[in-house]
Amino acid sequence: MDLKHQCVKLNDGHFIPVLGLGTYAPEEVPKSEAEEATKLAIDAGFRHIDSAYVYQNEEEVGRAIRSKIAGGIVKREDIFFTSKLWATFLRPELVRPALEKSLKKLQLDYVDLYIIHFPVALKALEKCKDAGLVKSIGVSNFNRRQLEMILNKPGLKYKPVCNQVECHPYLNQSKLLDFCKSKDIVLVAYSALGSSRNKKWVDQSSPVLLDDPVLGALAKKHKRTPALIALRYQLQRGVVALAKSYNEKRIKENMQVFEFQLTSEDMRLLDGLNRNVRYITAEFGIGHPNYPFSEEY
Ligand code: NAP
Repeated sequence: MDLKHQCVKLNDGHFIPVLGLGTYAPEEVPKSEAEEATKLAIDAGFRHIDSAYVYQNEEEVGRAIRSKIAGGIVKREDIFFTSKLWATFLRPELVRPALEKSLKKLQLDYVDLYIIHFPVALKALEKCKDAGLVKSIGVSNFNRRQLEMILNKPGLKYKPVCNQVECHPYLNQSKLLDFCKSKDIVLVAYSALGSSRNKKWVDQSSPVLLDDPVLGALAKKHKRTPALIALRYQLQRGVVALAKSYNEKRIKENMQVFEFQLTSEDMRLLDGLNRNVRYITAEFGIGHPNYPFSEEY
């Protein structure tokens, strides 16, 4: 297989490309930029696009994907598109309508992966998979206990294929990763580049990942950039990485992740950077019984 389109197999038999484009940007950024970035990313070789109902860009991202299909650059089956069920649609009867709303905005027949936040919606989502509206079902921001809860659910028909969580050298999630691997669940890393300082909810006093001296030294050694080192780190430990960029130069740069390898000593140094820095703390959820980040992992 073409290196650029490396995939990992999910526990339901589908394949997920190991590098994905993140499409979230703060509200004030025009949605047309998500459309442009998605087109640029497909041209640059990205085949995995991560969006969500709540990002309010599905219309634009869908239009970008469809324009690349219409232009003969890709076929629908070449693209792995992820959407997410927002927390207001968790009542079982709201699940399929929410997914259909996303599909309508996207103007697509199905999404490849649909990610949920809480177990209550699972049964309804299993039906969407059976109806062919979604190929795979995953979860996001689940800690180990919450994953176990879902895996032990009586009558579970499809186990989640992935858990999408914040993951980068400052929060490497090694325990959660080991647990996910033991259950054949792929860990998908968001904020793999340390997220964006422009976001209101990112703690501005937290250290800037891409300024880390170890990342800098490894970038110099490999004649790459700190961002590429952070992305390559994930791929070599079996993690699928999302990289958000709306910038053509950086979108293209991020595809270079397939052009070099880190040594085991490099990986060891990167493992040593772990320091429990969480950029996205979802403070709105603190105090809720299902708030996922109060436990160790
Ligand atoms: P990220 O991927 O860590 O990116 C952070 C910033 O890095 C971006 O603003 C980007 O700015 C910049 N960047 C990209 N490539 C670069 C490079 N080569 N060199 C230097 N800087 C570079 O940020 P994120 O948006 O937090 O996470 C990525 C995606 O994960 C999101 O877009 C979203 O799809 C998903 N996500 C999911 C959840 C969830 O709860 N499930 C939460 C957060 C995020 P430019 O655009 O200017 O290049």
